[in-house]
Amino acid sequence: MKNILEKKCVLCNESFELETSFLTCPKCGEEGILDFVYDYDFIKDHYLKSVSESPRPDIWRYSALLPVTEAKFFTKTLIGPTPLIKSERLSSYTGIRNLYIKDDGRLPTASYKDRASALAIGSAKSLGINLICAASTGNAAASLAGLTAPEGIRSVIFVPASAPPAKLAQLATFGALVHAVDGTYDDAFALSLKASSKFGWYLRSTAVNPVLSEGKKTGAFEMAEQTGYGNLPETVFVSVGDGCIIGGIAKGFIDLYSAGIIKNMPRVIGVQAEGSCVIHDAFHLGTEKITVKEPTTRADSISVGFPRDYIKALRNVKTTGGTYVKVTDEEIFKSSYLLGSYEGVFAEPAGATAFAGVLKALETGIIDKNTSCGVFITGNGLKDVAGSSMAAPAAVKIPRGEAALDVIENLFKTK
Ligand SMILES: [Zn+2]
Repeated sequence: MKNILEKKCVLCNESFELETSFLTCPKCGEEGILDFVYDYDFIKDHYLKSVSESPRPDIWRYSALLPVTEAKFFTKTLIGPTPLIKSERLSSYTGIRNLYIKDDGRLPTASYKDRASALAIGSAKSLGINLICAASTGNAAASLAGLTAPEGIRSVIFVPASAPPAKLAQLATFGALVHAVDGTYDDAFALSLKASSKFGWYLRSTAVNPVLSEGKKTGAFEMAEQTGYGNLPETVFVSVGDGCIIGGIAKGFIDLYSAGIIKNMPRVIGVQAEGSCVIHDAFHLGTEKITVKEPTTRADSISVGFPRDYIKALRNVKTTGGTYVKVTDEEIFKSSYLLGSYEGVFAEPAGATAFAGVLKALETGIIDKNTSCGVFITGNGLKDVAGSSMAAPAAVKIPRGEAALDVIENLFKTK
């Protein structure tokens, strides 16, 4: 399928043939991230037909807008679709006309990262490589390990030693070779770059490998298909750490719009934690220069001091007419409890951050109530039960036996 014209460096704009093997621009180094440029005339004629004719129910339906198009390289595991929930209860709570929750905590390894890992695996298979390495705050690595297991591909992982136990347990159980780095995510990332270049491994790390942000477009494609292409929400909220997910989701909408498949493009709104808001700050300063800062948020999946995919995160959000907001950790915990208690959606703190952004955007007048919002939940609460239940009330302690009934009766009387 000739769906892609070329790869382009986001810094110097230089074009490269699709077949070139280097990951980042040889002139600009590791910050010269490449971007795939699609042939929208070709896509216009082929996309909807290839989606409807695909034998797969999952993200591979959208291969016309992906860099892996041959079925023999697709993952064995099905990736999605995840439900798009129209939440009437959260609509009444917020007053927002239509509120949609896209719960990607229900993907195979319980985070949005499965969408990108699938593309990394497809790409590695097409190159005949059977070892993939990654740096991760936890989810990307768990995803890579879980999806490579059935393929018989080895995964080698670098995580900060402080990653939540559930994520480390997932990795180990999926058979990955895990290195817990005595340092931050940024240290783990630097090591993954060095190791992959020294040992010739395929690198899954976000941002540096442009294939990954392409996989992250598929949440947008799914949302477009689920709303019949004509009824997408007016704004879409995404939590932001490294910038790869939001860059990908925004590009997904831009691709569909540029190929004439959707007529209205949602405004994509990035939500960062106050303790990790480098991209938010650069966006509001109107600059593409970021100031690296030690992160302090409890939301581990978006705790990033040096976001690697900031250029796509800044530019693509701007192209959609979107913006960035930031929220406190307390607002994130509260939003996790609201999602759970109003809609039965269990989100890890980073996943709940997007909904905290909806409340912030409403409060600050970025959106009004007479609108429709889509909210991407990027990770399941089981990944970090302590963080996810921070604002939930504790269990009521009662005695055993008959005596408990009087206590319970009194509790109900007072409530
Ligand atoms: Zn360049």
